[in-house]
Amino acid sequence: MIKYIKSFTLFELLQGMFLTLKYMFKAKVTINYPHEKGPLSPRFRGEHALRRYPSGEERCIACKLCEAVCPAQAITIEAEPRDDGSRRTTRYDIDMSKCIYCGLCQESCPVDAIVEGPNFEFATETREELMYTKEKLMENGDRWEQEIAQNIYLDRKYR
Ligand code: SF4
Ligand code: SF4
Repeated sequence: MIKYIKSFTLFELLQGMFLTLKYMFKAKVTINYPHEKGPLSPRFRGEHALRRYPSGEERCIACKLCEAVCPAQAITIEAEPRDDGSRRTTRYDIDMSKCIYCGLCQESCPVDAIVEGPNFEFATETREELMYTKEKLMENGDRWEQEIAQNIYLDRKYR
């Protein structure tokens, strides 16, 4: 009998409408992406970048620890000494289609050169665009340095 009364009075429909009405006046949990963006953890592991010192000199000393530790074997480094005796990379590639964003390259780097920055908007239309060269990685470093430095600072207690 109750079933028939509920059907006849459209009880479930009214119940649903009431729920909608209730949430109309509550704070929204959705955001209008991409115009609005949610907060990101300082430990967020996004697109890779190679950093420089404030003097403009590249940080990477071509020790190849990141290449050795990468479980996906996504990093390829070639290096040779400069005229001043310092070791620098002549090639630093990351195949981003292989990368699993584990962050081990960043963890292993003794000079905070390779990092995973806060950028997550780097989808591409072709696989070739995901083959990152040293130039591209240095460009990323220059572009995101402020945010990356801030994240490293915020995470300093746990490193
Ligand atoms: S995040 Fe992990 S998989 Fe990606 S390049 Fe670094 S070490 Fe390799
Ligand atoms: S990015 Fe860091 S770990 Fe990788 S080769 Fe350069 S200095 Fe070594």
